[in-house]
Amino acid sequence: MHNNLAKERAWIEVNLSKLEENVRSIQKIISPSTKIMAVVKADAYGHGMIEIAKHLNKIGIEDFAVATLEEGISLRENHTKGNILILGHVSIQSLRLAVEHDLIITAIDQEYAKRILHMPLKKKLRVYLKINTGMNRLGIPYHEIDFIKSMYKKQEIDVVGMYSHFCITDSKQEEAIAFSNLQNKRMEQLIKKLKEDGYNVGKVHMQSSYGILNYNDNYEYSYVRPGIILYGVDSTKEVYKKTSLTLHPVLSVKARITSVKEIKEEETVGYGRTYKANQKEKIATVSIGYADGYPRELSNKGAKVIVNNQYAEVIGRICMDQLMINVTNIPEIKAGDIVTLIGNTPEITAEEVASLAGTITNELLCRLGSRLHKIYHNKREEI
Ligand SMILES: *Cc1c(COP(=O)(O)O)cnc(C)c1O
Repeated sequence: MHNNLAKERAWIEVNLSKLEENVRSIQKIISPSTKIMAVVKADAYGHGMIEIAKHLNKIGIEDFAVATLEEGISLRENHTKGNILILGHVSIQSLRLAVEHDLIITAIDQEYAKRILHMPLKKKLRVYLKINTGMNRLGIPYHEIDFIKSMYKKQEIDVVGMYSHFCITDSKQEEAIAFSNLQNKRMEQLIKKLKEDGYNVGKVHMQSSYGILNYNDNYEYSYVRPGIILYGVDSTKEVYKKTSLTLHPVLSVKARITSVKEIKEEETVGYGRTYKANQKEKIATVSIGYADGYPRELSNKGAKVIVNNQYAEVIGRICMDQLMINVTNIPEIKAGDIVTLIGNTPEITAEEVASLAGTITNELLCRLGSRLHKIYHNKREEI
C-alpha cells in the first residue's frame, strides 16, 4: 500500500495507548500469577496483527494465540518474541513448519494426537493438549484421563500443558452459569487427578474475554486468553459482565466525503431506489462500502456516521465502495471532509454498528477489509 495515500479514501486508526490501557485493566482483575496470552488471530480482530503484537511485546506481553499456522509464521517472520500458540488445526504434513518457526501446536483430538507422534521432526514438537469440557468443537474428552496421561509421557513431543474453552460465559442465565461452572469443574478435576498421580501438568488455561470477567473468582490458571476485550470492545451491548472493566476502544474507521449534492422531494438515492426524499435534501457520497467491511446489512437501518462532530444518517443501499448520507442539517459540508463510521466525537461504538448489522463486534471488526489502510497512533520506542 502507498503510505502517502493512507487517508485518501477510507482507513482505520488504531490507538495503541488504548490497547495498553486495556491490557493494564485486564491485569488488574486477574491473579498476579496469571499471565495474559493475547489473542491476535484474524489480523488482531482487524487491528493489524503485526503492529499489535509488536506493541504488546514492547509492553511486556510474551504470549500470543493465533488461529492458523500462517498467522504464527507471519508473527515469527516479523520478529514477534515469546510463545505463539496455534489454536486451530495444523495439518500433519505442515508440522515441520511449526517446529521450524518455534510455534506451539494444539493436539485437537485423540486421533490427531496419535498422528503427531509419528512425524520425523528436527526438534521436539511443542504441543498443548486441548481438552473438550463441553463445547464440542475441538479437544480430547475431559474424561479420557489415561489417554491424557499417556500423552504427557511421550518422548517424541514436548507437552507444554492443557487448555480448554468455555462456550457460554457471556450469559447470566442460571443454566449458563451452571454449565460454565461444570466445564471448569471438569478441567479442575482433571488437573487435580493428574497432579495427584505425580504428573507435572505444565501450563493450564481456559478463560477468554467473558471467562475472565465472569468466572475469575477462584481460578488460578497460568494464562487468560482475552481477544475482544483486549481491543476495548464488548461482543454485544447485552453481554453479562459480573466484573466491570472500563474498556477503551482501540480502533476507529474513517472515510471521506467525495461529493455533495441537493436532491428534490420524491427523488431517490442509490441502487434499488430504496430511499426517497420527503423534501428537498442535501446528501453526500462517502468513500467506503461493503468491500471495506462496512456491512451492506446496514442499508436503510438508520445507521449513523459522524461528520463535523454531528451525526448523519446512512441512506439507501450501501454500495461496494461507497455509501450515501443525509447531510441536510449539517452546514458547510464539502468534498474532502472526514466521516467517522466507528469512533468519536460524539461516539459511534462498534457494539452499536454490529447490533444494527445483526452480528457481534468480533465479526464486524475482523471483516474490516484489507483495502483499508491502518494508521497507528502512540507507537512506542523500543524499551
Ligand atoms: C478466539 C478465541 C479466544 C478469544 O476469544 P474472545 O471471546 O475474543 O476473548 C480465546 N480462546 C480460543 C480458543 C479462541 O478460539
